Amino acid sequence: MTETVDCIVVGAGVVGLAIARRLAIAGREVIVLEAANDIGTGTSSRNSEVIHAGIYYAKGSLKATCCVAGKTNLYKYCESHGVAHKRLGKLVVATTEQEISALEATKQKAAANGVTDLTWVDTDELQDLEPNLHAVRALLSPSTGIIDSHGLMLAFQGDMEAHGGMIAFMSPVVGGRVENGGITIETGGTNAMTLHCRTMINSAGLGAQPLAHTISGIPKNTIPPLFYAKGTYFTLTGKSPFNHLIYPVPVPGGLGTHSTLDLGGQTKFGPDVSWVDEPDYEIDTARADSFYDAIRRYWRGLSDGALQPGYVGIRPKLGGPDQAKYAADFMIQGPTKHGIAGLINLYGIESPGLTSSLAIADKVAEQVGVV
Ligand SMILES: Cc1cc2nc3c(=O)[nH]c(=O)nc-3n(C[C@H](O)[C@H](O)[C@H](O)COP(=O)(O)OP(=O)(O)OC[C@H]3O[C@@H](n4cnc5c(N)ncnc54)[C@H](O)[C@@H]3O)c2cc1C
Repeated sequence: MTETVDCIVVGAGVVGLAIARRLAIAGREVIVLEAANDIGTGTSSRNSEVIHAGIYYAKGSLKATCCVAGKTNLYKYCESHGVAHKRLGKLVVATTEQEISALEATKQKAAANGVTDLTWVDTDELQDLEPNLHAVRALLSPSTGIIDSHGLMLAFQGDMEAHGGMIAFMSPVVGGRVENGGITIETGGTNAMTLHCRTMINSAGLGAQPLAHTISGIPKNTIPPLFYAKGTYFTLTGKSPFNHLIYPVPVPGGLGTHSTLDLGGQTKFGPDVSWVDEPDYEIDTARADSFYDAIRRYWRGLSDGALQPGYVGIRPKLGGPDQAKYAADFMIQGPTKHGIAGLINLYGIESPGLTSSLAIADKVAEQVGVV
C-alpha cells in the first residue's frame, strides 16, 4: 500500500535535519528517511566541527552567503538551545614572507563576503598570543569557533519532533518515480515502504547523486558528477600547543593541514586532500609523514611519534582534481533547473555545510514556498 506524506527529507545529517526542522516548524508534515540507524553517521560526524567565518568563498556564491548568514544564526541557535560551542578565534598564518600576499588576498576575499572583522597580527603580538607558533604574520578571525555537531543535530531533531516531524531509521531510499503531481519513493530495509509525497528534499550527502539516479523522471543531465576528496585527520597525544585554531594559507581542494581543537580540548590536525574513486574511511598511516612536514612549518616543537591516526571524512565534490573546478559551489537544485515541482536536490554540500546548515534550510524553505 502507498502511504501519502506531505514532505520527505532523505538524509538525517546536519543539513537534512536542519531542513526537516525548518519545514516542521512552518507547519508542514515531515518524515525524514535515513538509511543508517542513527542521526549524523555520515559526513556530519566526520568533519572539523568548526564554525567557519565565511572567509574563503567566492563573492556571491552560496558557500559565501550561506556560511556568513549560517554562522550568525548558528551562534544564536547554540546560545538559545544550549548547544556546546566556543568562539575560539582562528589565526591564518604566513610562515614565510612570500605567503603574506596570500593572506592579503584572503583578507580582501573575506571583506567582499561581508567578513570585516579580520585583523593583522604581527610577530611580536603572535609571540604573546601563541608562543609555540612559528609565523611571520597572521590574520585573526575572531568569529571562527568550534561546535558540538552531534549536540546540534540532536537539538534540530528535538525541534523537528516537537513540531510533529519524525525520522524513519534503517530506511534507505532505493528508488522512486515522478508521478501524480509528486514523487513516489521506495525504501528498502526490513520495513520496506512505498510513500508518495508532494515535496521531496534530497539531502543524502555523498548519496545525493546516486539517489537522484534511482528516481525515474529526474532528467539525467541535471545530475552533476560526484568526486570524492578524502580528508584524513591525525590527533595529538598530550596538551594542545595552541589556544586558537591555526590555519596555514589555503591549498587547492582544502584549507591546508590546520590545527583545530574539539570541545574536550583534544587537538587534531587535518584534513588533508586525496582523491578516491569510492568513499573509503581507512586511514593510511603513511600519510603521517606529510602531516609532520606540514605541521612543522608552523609548529617547530612537534615531536616524532606525537601524532596518532584520527579519522577520515569525505568531501562530496562537484569538481575533480582539476584546479579550475575546486571551488565549485553548493548546488540547491529546484524545479527551475530540473522541471519537477516539489523536488529539491542538494549536491556538493561539503565544507562549510555544517556552519551553513540553518541558512541552507532557509533557502530550501524559500524554494518550496514556506515562509
Ligand atoms: C573532512 C571534512 C571536514 C569538514 N569540516 C567542516 C567544518 O569544520 N565546518 C563546516 O561548516 N563544515 C565542514 N564540513 C562540511 C560538513 O561536514 C558537511 O557539509 C555536512 O556534514 C553535510 O551534511 P549533510 O546532512 O548534507 O550530509 P551527511 O551528514 O553525509 O548526511 C547524509 C545522510 O544521508 C543518508 N543517506 C544517503 N543516501 C541515502 C539514501 N539513499 N536513503 C536514505 N538515507 C541516505 C546518509 O546515511 C547520511 O546520514 C567538512 C566536511 C568534510 C568532509
